Amino acid sequence: MPWTMPWREGAARTDCRHILALSGGKDSSALAVYLRDKIPHLEYVFCDTEKELQETYDYLAKLEEYLGIQITRIKAAQGFDFYLQMFSGVLPNPTTRWCTRLLKLKPYERFIGDDPVISYVGIRADEPERQGYISGKPGVTTVFPFAEDGLVKSDIIRILEDCGLGLPSYYQWRSRSGCFFCFFQQHREWVGLLEKHPELFEQAQAYEKIDPHTGERFTWIAGESLAELCRPERVARIKQEYEARCLREAKKFASNQRLCDLWDNEDDQELACLICSI
Ligand code: SF4
Repeated sequence: MPWTMPWREGAARTDCRHILALSGGKDSSALAVYLRDKIPHLEYVFCDTEKELQETYDYLAKLEEYLGIQITRIKAAQGFDFYLQMFSGVLPNPTTRWCTRLLKLKPYERFIGDDPVISYVGIRADEPERQGYISGKPGVTTVFPFAEDGLVKSDIIRILEDCGLGLPSYYQWRSRSGCFFCFFQQHREWVGLLEKHPELFEQAQAYEKIDPHTGERFTWIAGESLAELCRPERVARIKQEYEARCLREAKKFASNQRLCDLWDNEDDQELACLICSI
């Protein structure tokens, strides 16, 4: 993993800004707790797509209260719906990721400006394959305190539990933070959205379209619309498959492991955008 200076050396620098981008996920939140007394002028920022789960907003508010900090909320100049129209209704997907670029990265780069910055990223020591956000801007140095200090997932959970914050509540049914309609969601997470937030599921469904001329389908999941996914027999099958998978996975882990332990071991985990989900 490329970093250009040891993070503790960087933390001592007074000639630059120190910034931690929070996603509302467990790793960046734990990093905020971890760095609290180590970096006096750390700036906390959250790129709000305005399509996040209420649980994420609530968790960030809890974090602010616990740390006694103010998280700067930043937004893109235009919202998701504007850009969707600009892209002629073509939904973002894991290849184009226009939403990450326009709703997360661009506002973050604008927030940084041309200042020299040390950007703190919560990649852990047990996920060396993941790549953090590394700005193309010349003045930005990205550092990885958890990876450097050897902290793994169990350490991150301990940090959050010891301080009383615990995990964000959406981890009961979803593996990562981000927009409620995020295309990185897996089938069972869509089912979770359907059951926990039926109104958001409906909103996500309303974005899906079939081109009346070409018959082309614009869906969040390749090859399956949400209207198809939410049929009772399909939901039952998704749950069955998930339970079977959990049983298989549980054999590899101690019985008291959490859902996020299982999810963290799934193949597509590192594909998700880190600024959205770490
Ligand atoms: S959370 Fe998902 S949908 Fe939202 S900006 Fe990130 S990649 Fe796009």
